[in-house]
Amino acid sequence: VKVATDPDPSFYRMVEYFYHSAVKVCEPALVEYLKKHTHFSDKKRTNRVAGILKVMGSCNSSLQFEFPLQRKSGEYEIIHGYRSQHSVHRLPCKGGIRFSDEVDLGEVKALAALMTYKCACSNIPFGGAKGGVAIDPKKYTVAELQRITRRYTLELAKKNYIGAGIDVPAPDVNTSGREMSWIVDTYIKTLGYKDLNAAACVTGKPIHGGGIRGRVEATGRGVFMTISTFIHEPKYMQMINLEPGFKGKTAIIQGFGNVGSYAAMYLEQHGVKIIGVLEYDCNLANSDGIKAKELHNYKMNNKGSAKGFTGAREVGPEIIFEKCDILIVAAKEKTITVDVAKKLNCKIIGEGANGPTLPAADVILREKKILVLPDLLANAGGVTVSYFEFLKNLNHVSFGKLSIKFWRDSNTALLDSVEKSLKEANVEAKVVPTELFQTMMSGASEKHIVNSGLEYSMTNACLNVMRAAKEYNLGLDLRTAAYITAIEKIFVTYDEQGLAI
Ligand code: GLU
Repeated sequence: VKVATDPDPSFYRMVEYFYHSAVKVCEPALVEYLKKHTHFSDKKRTNRVAGILKVMGSCNSSLQFEFPLQRKSGEYEIIHGYRSQHSVHRLPCKGGIRFSDEVDLGEVKALAALMTYKCACSNIPFGGAKGGVAIDPKKYTVAELQRITRRYTLELAKKNYIGAGIDVPAPDVNTSGREMSWIVDTYIKTLGYKDLNAAACVTGKPIHGGGIRGRVEATGRGVFMTISTFIHEPKYMQMINLEPGFKGKTAIIQGFGNVGSYAAMYLEQHGVKIIGVLEYDCNLANSDGIKAKELHNYKMNNKGSAKGFTGAREVGPEIIFEKCDILIVAAKEKTITVDVAKKLNCKIIGEGANGPTLPAADVILREKKILVLPDLLANAGGVTVSYFEFLKNLNHVSFGKLSIKFWRDSNTALLDSVEKSLKEANVEAKVVPTELFQTMMSGASEKHIVNSGLEYSMTNACLNVMRAAKEYNLGLDLRTAAYITAIEKIFVTYDEQGLAI
């Protein structure tokens, strides 16, 4: 109850709160599910549901370690590293590694829990995990960062916290393909040297190191796809009194990093005007539209800073309260506080970040009839394409031309034989390949396959969340609907596999 009104709850308590709010709504339906599937007595059934929900809500295990780093100056420093595995109902468990001086065990546990629910909500067959190193990477040289990353990987490997069948990290705040390359190289050359699937020990790798095309853009693209699905749904647009479609819409982006910048570029490509951008070191506005691609390129050539960009004027952080249709929150957790929620003037919020909205603020947004597309759903694009990369690594075959040729040859033969037997049986029917099938058959590039798979997965997840919202009469509370979608899925997995060893 306290978390619901607390102006500053801990991140972990916050995720627990959202989870328990959803449990309250769907627990009776889970008991009903067991009624259909077991012959248990009422008491045994209720106990079992409560037991599974307890297991599902708790964090399985966490690793916390410290190691020394000799700085360029010659001085020594102690570095703090973490990795939490929230749920191992499916293996491997999955989640990024962030480098930030705000990292601590509570944050990593909360983020790991979000990964569990995110994967389940989108039907990605992974458990949830997260890791972090408590440093501000801007204060370290590249060589120092490499030594930190390699030692961090060794600590994980020593304790069985990394490996294709165990736990698979990925990029997160302040990490990218560069760090993932160091991780896979460290693993392959040390404890993972006998592991045939060592390349799949981490995702988000650069292309030459076993990565997949489309992974860098994937989270931002997924945020865009989620917004696109809902903005074209007249029923939802009616609830918030907004004309369906992107035409004539405006957006503000909080956090123009890997997630926010790509989400902005896709929105822009679909006719949305970006009128404001909030960054860690400056805020920008332009009522005629900020060119997202230009700003992205400018930042890359300006040591990651948007300061001095001439395509907009520098303004104060109040730009977030400007009237707009879409607000993308892609910075960090807990940025939408009660005070912020009260002053927001947008219609749709796309949560690119993990955990940006406080429970007390969430209620205010609903009262203001703002459609919140929750983190679990909206930012699942990253882990979805990570899954494709993981599969590509396990297959030991590129998704490119070679595999497409195999795929096309075998499926052309299959199609021919189905058509032949239909003809032989005198059945008047035509085989209509699905859109994905057609994309594959057309000899599309890896990027096409990835994007079409991502679209399929994101749209399906959106529809599942809409289904839960309808079934439980949740109106605009899509966060609860997304948690329920995840809970139902994990519940069945636990029920089928049993709880005790
Ligand atoms: N760090 C990303 C997230 O929060 C991606 C995780 C992954 O690809 O495993 O979803």
